[in-house]
Amino acid sequence: MPLLLHVDGDRWRAHLRDVATNEPGLVPVAKGNGYGLGLGRLARRAEWLGSDVLAVGQYEELEHVATRFPGDMVVLTPYRAELPSVHDSRVIHTIGRADDLAALREQEARSRVLLELRTSMLRHGFTAEGLREVGRGLDGVKVEGVSMHFPLGPGNLAEARQLLDVVVGAEVPTKRIWVSHLSNDEIGQLRAAWPDLEFRNRIGTQLWLGDRAALRPRASVLDVHPIAKGGVYGYRRRHAGRSGTVLVVSGGTAHGIGLEAPTGDLSVRSRARTVVRSGLASTGRVRSPYFIGGQQAAFAEPPHMQSSMIFLPDGVPVPQVGDEIPLQVRFTTTTFDDVLID
Ligand SMILES: *Cc1c(COP(=O)(O)O)cnc(C)c1O
Repeated sequence: MPLLLHVDGDRWRAHLRDVATNEPGLVPVAKGNGYGLGLGRLARRAEWLGSDVLAVGQYEELEHVATRFPGDMVVLTPYRAELPSVHDSRVIHTIGRADDLAALREQEARSRVLLELRTSMLRHGFTAEGLREVGRGLDGVKVEGVSMHFPLGPGNLAEARQLLDVVVGAEVPTKRIWVSHLSNDEIGQLRAAWPDLEFRNRIGTQLWLGDRAALRPRASVLDVHPIAKGGVYGYRRRHAGRSGTVLVVSGGTAHGIGLEAPTGDLSVRSRARTVVRSGLASTGRVRSPYFIGGQQAAFAEPPHMQSSMIFLPDGVPVPQVGDEIPLQVRFTTTTFDDVLID
């Protein structure tokens, strides 16, 4: 009785279609744990959407998508000679430093590259001056575009405009600009202002997870133990502060439970983190991501590796062994045992 993700298939696919229809330059992003859904599944969906290109986070992820997606594959993490890489005519490398480009050219006769321009994120990429310099020495390289990775929007339009002036001034041999975290409306404004440029919009979260109601994480009740006030339970021989029920449910630290708490709720998140770090949870004090009877239930102690103990005080309806219970998760840090699409 594992930790499951039920997907309302019709609803999920309708949302994917919607996003793709509204953004003709869509580049689906499939990286990490595949946004909780799995890289292979996302790769198949990207093909189903008719995408010509799929973005992965790092080279190691290519093997999970390459047999399932027939188009080009962009690697978002910049190429580094000392790290694993993959050389294939379908692979487009991201380059953020002149040295990396030189190293790549030693590996590949005609590399396909995106030149990344540094944004206010300060993550990777050339400065404006660096882009101008590298633009002068690109013989034998196929520049597939200039890439810009912005902080979470909204509010990136002004910076995007500045950087586009940089790109035009650098005379890089490409008309294609790859961006992220700009809204359709913002990209529309850029398209209107730079009609000769082609904009590609990388989207992960809003695509795969944009309709949360289509995604239903479920745990199972594995065991149910009534406990009296003062009764002992758990790894640390805790004493129940009041009478109630200890429930053992599927989902533990190996699934990502409790390391990050439910989406968006900072107070819960920080509290759950503290609990995991310090083992301070005491009966019924720390909210868990599990919901019983519509209420967020409390951890009885910090999550175990593959299951969690939660405490229900007397008076709350007690579920039965085998019942499925909903939980709130952060999809990018959750490993489900299975994803069931109906
Ligand atoms: C992860 C990533 C994206 C997608 O981000 P989401 O917020 O999941 O849409 C786009 N571009 C780059 C460079 C990324 O690393």
